[in-house]
Amino acid sequence: MSSRSARAGLRPDGPLTLLNPGPVNVSERVRRALLLPDLCHREEEATRLLASVRSKLRRAFGGEEYQAAVLTGSGTAAVEAAVSSAVSPGKRLLVVDNGVYGARIAATAAAHGIEVFEVRTGWLRRPAPEAVEQALRRDPDIEVVAMVQHETTVGLLNPVAEIGDVVRRQGRTLLVDAVSGLAGDALDLATCGVGLAAGTAGKCVQGFPGVGFVLVRRRELRRLRRLPPRSVYLHLPRYCGDDDTPPVPFTPAMQILAALDEALSELLEETVAGRIARYRAAALHLRRHFAALGLEMLVPEPWRSNCLTSMRLPVGVSYASLHAGLKKRGFVIYEGQGRLRGKIFRVANMGALTTADFDRFRGALSAVLGRRAS
Ligand SMILES: *Cc1c(COP(=O)(O)O)cnc(C)c1O
Repeated sequence: MSSRSARAGLRPDGPLTLLNPGPVNVSERVRRALLLPDLCHREEEATRLLASVRSKLRRAFGGEEYQAAVLTGSGTAAVEAAVSSAVSPGKRLLVVDNGVYGARIAATAAAHGIEVFEVRTGWLRRPAPEAVEQALRRDPDIEVVAMVQHETTVGLLNPVAEIGDVVRRQGRTLLVDAVSGLAGDALDLATCGVGLAAGTAGKCVQGFPGVGFVLVRRRELRRLRRLPPRSVYLHLPRYCGDDDTPPVPFTPAMQILAALDEALSELLEETVAGRIARYRAAALHLRRHFAALGLEMLVPEPWRSNCLTSMRLPVGVSYASLHAGLKKRGFVIYEGQGRLRGKIFRVANMGALTTADFDRFRGALSAVLGRRAS
């Protein structure tokens, strides 16, 4: 096979509208930012770029009470950096687990030899803050409570403020996997008492996948600096110098970082509140159509995120055929995970998309399902 045809095999027939929960469609402005001149990560241009990204992350999320650690890797790397850096030797991590990503936090902690206590609820239920409170009262060795803001498994928003309140009253640290919700659903880090929040360039921030970040409260960072590292690459304090001269411990994905810098400028221009409102409007626009097509949404209305909708596959429709029919029309949807595989499909509305894109999708979905909106 010539390299040309090999390449052609990787390319879809036309542009794809990504309705999977990241990676997302980015703007042309962000895509162009990839083409920065070659540069060395030890030079001042690179230092300036990293300082700019960190400062914009603080402006978008958390403000000056937080520092932003930026590391090369996907969202999971950011979560793993937060988890592996936050727990003292001999102390425990409580994980609120109501989906695939909650379970991944528990598995991550276990891989680093951290003892885990899980508060588990079903995938379609919100955890009760009382259950967390009880566990914390019983076990003073639980140092950190970890939870997922937006459980992408089904598109459910967890009660970060309520659990944050319990964690603060009990004097522990709150760690949030905000990878799929940050900039899509409201999360006031300081008000919710968040000590560490992990995010990624490649979801609602509308950059490319490959760079993750952790917002760390300054007070929390002072505690973390005293802990022995569990990892060479993922130890968070290594990524947090002082604000003006950030350390660059390893070679970052420079081009992805440059695109993230542009994506953050876009975000700050749109404002985080503006982006959240745009995503919310898109989700409601899509859901009106889903309901009119007779599709059953999994998550009860008040708990739905602004970013993703999960629905049961209609009787007689396989995921594979739905996915293929939509992809032929230029749309990528997302499969269920774990025991929901083959039972549900997911439609995210993250990324640089417009109402016109969602209208085209509504038409395509009706056509593939052979249903008219009623
Ligand atoms: C996407 C996602 C992640 C990280 O996924 P990566 O593929 O590593 O970027 C982590 N947590 C949640 C809730 C997610 O949706």
